[in-house]
Amino acid sequence: QAKQHGRNNYQWYTEHLNQEVSERMTLRNELQKAIAGMSFELHYQPQIDTRSGLVIGSEALLRWPHAERGMISPLRFIPVAEDTGQIIPISQWVLDTACRHNRQLLDRGLARGAISVNISAVHFLRSNFIETVRRALDSSGLPANLLELEITESVLLKNAERAIYLLHELKKIGVGLALDDFGTGYSSLSYLKDLPIDKVKIDRSFVQELISDPRDAAITQGIISMAHHLDLKVVAEGVETPEQAAFLERNQCDAFQGFLYARPMPFAELEGYLQRQAALAMAGH
Ligand code: C2E
Ligand code: MG
Ligand code: MG
Ligand code: MG
Repeated sequence: QAKQHGRNNYQWYTEHLNQEVSERMTLRNELQKAIAGMSFELHYQPQIDTRSGLVIGSEALLRWPHAERGMISPLRFIPVAEDTGQIIPISQWVLDTACRHNRQLLDRGLARGAISVNISAVHFLRSNFIETVRRALDSSGLPANLLELEITESVLLKNAERAIYLLHELKKIGVGLALDDFGTGYSSLSYLKDLPIDKVKIDRSFVQELISDPRDAAITQGIISMAHHLDLKVVAEGVETPEQAAFLERNQCDAFQGFLYARPMPFAELEGYLQRQAALAMAGH
């Protein structure tokens, strides 16, 4: 009985693995076509200042509209693109496009803070990353302070010394730096004091259970307090309910990002959203 059970498990496992491998190969081939035509899109999700309710920036989120399969989640295809190196041309395109878009907003009087771009550790740790950022700023004409880069602790786990050096170089250029998905990595807290970053983003997994689980509430309060003592701003990800927002506001979280305020939207919609925001701000809200 146990033996048979074991074999079934094994069978299930190998079938599952084969499926996973062939799915990744399909994705890889289709990604190649998508890269050739650069058929990706950037959607933008505003970040809202807790106190004023005004937009203080927006995060660029990559979208891959697939002819047969609809939108494929970046959580699905980015790991594949990282393994194959395809992430480099994609990430380059994201950086260039986000800079161009924010420059466009600036020219129309609609820029509200920085556009944040998620940077894969694979791209970040490449030899010419700093040059890549400089070129994106130069060719778009976007002031450095209107670009923010989001990195995760994974860059520190791969090569902490180089990551810290790169962050200092980026700081010299003047771009904003945020640590994404904070609290979910496995690196030690002691590195935080050595990072020239501006901001931490509390991971959605803590925000989700904020109201129902006192442990998540405690962790969130701890992150906010520690970050503030280190002179860092705190943004909460994935805010979906007014109760979560109220908790974060009471606990001095600086900004929110989440479906409660706005879902990620195409660039054309962001322009309209920012226009309405500007009108609200004028009316004194
Ligand atoms: P992330 O950087 O932590 O981005 C936040 C994710 O949370 C986004 O998912 C966003 O749509 C989602 N989100 C925001 N508010 C809410 C909410 O209230 N509820 C829920 N349930 N979700 C919310 P998305 O767009 O699917 O992106 C997933 C991840 O893929 C990102 O996590 C980031 O790690 C990665 N990613 C996205 N775009 C890029 C990119 O251009 N380059 C790289 N390297 N990674 C990217
Ligand atoms: Mg992010
Ligand atoms: Mg995040
Ligand atoms: Mg996340």
